[in-house]
Amino acid sequence: MSSKKIVVIGAGVAGLTSALLLARKGYDVTIVAKFAPGDYDIEYTSPWAGANWMSFVKNNQQLAKYDEITYCVFQKLVKEFPEAGLWPRRCITYVREKDLAKQSDLLGGLLDAKPWFADTVENFTELDKSQIPSGYVQGIAYDSFCINVQIYLPWLQSQCFAAGITLKLYTLKHIKEACNLHSSGEPADLIVNCTGLMASKLGGVMDPKVYPGRGQTVLVRNHAPAMYNDSGTDDADDELTYIMSRPGGGSILGGCYQKGNWNPTVDPNMADRIVKRALKLCPGLERDFPLDIVRHNVGLRPGREGGPRVELETISEVGKVVHNYGAGGAGYQSSYGMAEHVVQLVDLAFA
Ligand SMILES: Cc1cc2nc3c(=O)[nH]c(=O)nc-3n(C[C@H](O)[C@H](O)[C@H](O)COP(=O)(O)OP(=O)(O)OC[C@H]3O[C@@H](n4cnc5c(N)ncnc54)[C@H](O)[C@@H]3O)c2cc1C
Repeated sequence: MSSKKIVVIGAGVAGLTSALLLARKGYDVTIVAKFAPGDYDIEYTSPWAGANWMSFVKNNQQLAKYDEITYCVFQKLVKEFPEAGLWPRRCITYVREKDLAKQSDLLGGLLDAKPWFADTVENFTELDKSQIPSGYVQGIAYDSFCINVQIYLPWLQSQCFAAGITLKLYTLKHIKEACNLHSSGEPADLIVNCTGLMASKLGGVMDPKVYPGRGQTVLVRNHAPAMYNDSGTDDADDELTYIMSRPGGGSILGGCYQKGNWNPTVDPNMADRIVKRALKLCPGLERDFPLDIVRHNVGLRPGREGGPRVELETISEVGKVVHNYGAGGAGYQSSYGMAEHVVQLVDLAFA
């Protein structure tokens, strides 16, 4: 068993999952983070996610692998850990004719009648005309998962504690500070960088390819019978329509993906549009009672030109660093695949 000392920077879904898999492999892990589960801040994306598994990968085997691995782990988690805040839900996407011609970066493979994951997920179906509401020409449905991140993040953190991981709250200006933050008091042998969007601002990393993908959602008490997605909206190209029914109650109504927008405040007009579109897509939301809003959310997805960075690098004055950031709108659905890749790179660094 290795006793190599690792400092993981970040306690979002990427940092916690990477730390957990490293500790299970025998590494001695300390997490250092400015924000941790229970905190809410615009610099901390994970508490604002929907979240569900709905892969939008197109023509990218590595990213598809991340999502596939995570789907398989989620299948196990729902059976073995009902307290984790994850449950199986049917995921349904309806496609409008006018969106088929678009080369949408946002939806990627979701516009395909048979996306890459058709043979990976359980009970994939191409919907026939009788199952598609008017106004749409195509549709798919499959067994997926919805995560209540307010339950899942603390659960993941407690899994880390159970695996012997220590967590320190600390704000780094430069990545080199991490070398002296291992809980043993001894220098770290390797740093894992899971700083999400803030990888764009952390000294020694300052990745210019990282950008925010602003998302706004509405959490309601109403229950949707499944998860629904629309291929587009007539309101704006960067707006989306999706509904996620959360374990533990309520539904998340979304949304938007506003590239480069750092604005942390709720746009009330957009919130109205989100609600209107959600009720049109799923009138059943109001089956039991009229729409009842819990709160409005804004989060910034950690986007990155060219895709996420899972990479081993040697940085002067720091030493070996494994990066894991830039998952954009896929940080949960790719979390275990990306973390497994981190473990492979850490093993390689010490080989
Ligand atoms: C509205 C919305 C909906 C979404 N829906 C989904 C979905 O359905 N499915 C899905 O898979 N994903 C979804 N996502 C995306 C997902 O939330 C992100 O990809 C994921 O949370 C990113 O996690 P992360 O750990 O990389 O970053 P973060 O959660 O931002 O964590 C970064 C960590 O690094 C720490 N950190 C950063 N800089 C420093 C520093 N200098 N010093 C110390 N600590 C530092 C932070 O404090 C934090 O602990 C959604 C996101 C949004 C906003």
